[in-house]
Formats: sequence, structure tokens, C-alpha cells
Amino acid sequence: MFASNSRGLALQLSNHLKRLQSTLVLAEHNNEKLIPITQNAISAAKKIGGDISVLVAGTKCAPVAAQLSKASGVSKILLAENDAFLGFTPETLTPLVLATQKQFNFSHIVAGASAFGKSVLPRIAAKLNVSPITDIIDVKAPDTFVRTIYAGNAILTLKSKDPVKVVTIRGTNFEPAPLEGGSASTEQAAAGDYKTDVVQFVGQELSKSDRPELTSAKVVVSGGRGMKSGDNFKLLYDLADKLNAAVGASRAAVDAGFVPNDLQVGQTGKIVAPELYIAVGISGAIQHLAGMKDSKTIVAINKDPEAPIFQVADYGLVADLFKVVPELTSKL
Ligand SMILES: Cc1cc2nc3c(=O)[nH]c(=O)nc-3n(C[C@H](O)[C@H](O)[C@H](O)COP(=O)(O)OP(=O)(O)OC[C@H]3O[C@@H](n4cnc5c(N)ncnc54)[C@H](O)[C@@H]3O)c2cc1C
Repeated sequence: MFASNSRGLALQLSNHLKRLQSTLVLAEHNNEKLIPITQNAISAAKKIGGDISVLVAGTKCAPVAAQLSKASGVSKILLAENDAFLGFTPETLTPLVLATQKQFNFSHIVAGASAFGKSVLPRIAAKLNVSPITDIIDVKAPDTFVRTIYAGNAILTLKSKDPVKVVTIRGTNFEPAPLEGGSASTEQAAAGDYKTDVVQFVGQELSKSDRPELTSAKVVVSGGRGMKSGDNFKLLYDLADKLNAAVGASRAAVDAGFVPNDLQVGQTGKIVAPELYIAVGISGAIQHLAGMKDSKTIVAINKDPEAPIFQVADYGLVADLFKVVPELTSKL
């Protein structure tokens, strides 16, 4: 009788263990708007199971907290408004997260693997004396995660024995949690003096664009060294406008000064997985593929039939981009 019930018992136990999990998600925002990767992080937290709280820290972020309180699956919003958090520096945010952790004893601390998450979470992990688990693409169990290594050429499943799992998630691998259907309560986060002399936020220069944001765009048009100059990127902007696409670039294009570096796609740039990725004048180096090979459909335009990009492209056109890109744009 025990044997026949053992599966049910195991299931009950695993559900019970899931309930014991409690995750703190660090919200990423600019005080006015939520950055969408936060919604992907909430979905990852749901997959871990258990209770989800979201920490919203900034200088004036009550509107973002209000927006997040509607996210389905979130039970609590912790709001921390303080001038110290100007520029979202890890040095000021870490003591806040540690104070919050001391108060609630979360089993998991999660953020998106964006520049923000990548800068804050490893510092928190070091302070908690645990190993950070970075850029996960799946959750197998509350202690077992999947991530890529070697620029996306191997998949690693890892089991963490740390008491607190500090995890960044790859936004493109988790659906965004909708900002509706939920009704989380909002509380003030642990108060404290979070000012520091260690670091000072001086200012920022953001590239302004009306196009969709690169990491969440449904269509991305990217240019490489084959574009030859920054001026020629106009061809890609025109094509992108027809497709409501974001524009990306290879590192060679960035290094040559054709476009700013926040457009870089790849191992050391952004990871994208749009419905459609159009690579124009890009050879398809392994470090570039690391950032886009999970795209649903890949189109390559390159005059070299041997270019490695054709090995991952669903549709390839061996042609001179200066001829075919304007043609394509005019036909759309
Ligand atoms: C540690 C490390 C990290 C890196 N990280 C990144 C990264 O994050 N992202 C990244 O992109 N790279 C990265 N790189 C660089 C990477 O190795 C390649 O050098 C880079 O991706 C090459 O860019 P590209 O394809 O634009 O240039 P190239 O390799 O020079 O390719 C240009 C392509 O344009 C084609 N072409 C030229 N003229 C035309 C034309 N008129 N019409 C059609 N096609 C044309 C050519 O046939 C060629 O295939 C990294 C490298 C290292 C070592």
C-alpha cells in the first residue's frame, strides 16, 4: 500500500517544498517606467514556485510600484524611495537588498540578466557568501537551473546547494508576466541610510530612438562591418521603420564607430530572440551568434556564400546589401 502511494506522497512533498520557496524579484525601472525584463523575471520566479515579492527601489518610483502591484502572481511590493538610489548603483542597492533579506529570509533573489541585474546581483551574492547563478534559461526545480556556457554552445544544468539562490534570468527565455489580474499589497521596504561615499552617479547619455527597444522587439534588423559606414546604416533604419523593428549591430560595426555600443548584439552585447532577425553584412562570428541564434526566423543578407551566418539562417540571400536592402524596403 505504501508503494502505491509513494508517488502521491512525493508529489505532495514537492508541492509542499515549492510552497516553502519565497522569491524576491528586483524591479528594473527608470522611476517613470518599468523595464519589461522585470516581467520576465516575475515569470521565472513563478516557475521557481512559492511566494513572490518585488522590490522597487529608486528616487521616485511609487508609480512603478503601483503598476507592478497589478502583476499576476505577485503577493507583495516593497517600495524604497530614497535619493541614495539615484543611478541605481549596486553600492547603494546592495545594503537595501541585504536588509530586506534579513527581514524576510527569501529562498531566492532574482533579477533580469540586463546590465542592471548583472551589476547588482553578484555583489549581493558575495555579501551573502553564496554563488550567483547567472543568465538562466530555465528552472528545473527550485534548486536546479539551466544556463548556457561557451557563448551558447553548451547547455549546463546546475544544482545549487546554497541556502539562498541569487539568480539572474535571460529575459528572452521567459514569457513576460502580464501586469493585470494581480492585487499585491505595497509596504515600505526596510528603512536605512543607504548613502555611500564609495560611488557617485554623475550622469548618463542615453541613445534616443522612437524604435522599439532592442531586447524586446519582435523584429530586429542588424548591420555589420559590411555596412561600411555609419551613414549607410540609414538603409537599415529605413528598412526597420517599415517593419517596426529595432536596429542592432555586430561588434565590428560598433568598433568602427558606425553605431553606439548599446546596439551591439552578442556575447558581450545584448541577447535577443525576436520573431524575425535580419542580419545584413554580418559574417556570423560565434560571439555574434551567441546573441541572436534563438531568434524564431533568421534572415541573412551577405555577399559571401561561405559566411557562417548562412548556417543558422532560415532564409539567406547571397547578394550585395547596397542593392537588395533598398529593394526590400521599397517592396514592403
Ligand atoms: C571576447 C569577444 C567577444 C565578442 N563579442 C561580440 C559580440 O557581442 N557581438 C559581435 O557581433 N561580435 C563580438 N565579437 C567579435 C566577433 O568575433 C566578430 O569579430 C564580429 O562579430 C564580426 O562582425 P561582422 O560580422 O560585422 O564583421 P565581419 O566578420 O568582417 O563580416 C562582415 C560581413 O559583411 C559581408 N559584406 C561585406 N560587404 C558586403 C556587401 N556589400 N553586401 C553584403 N555583404 C557584405 C562580408 O561578406 C562579411 O561576411 C567578440 C569577439 C571577442 C574576441
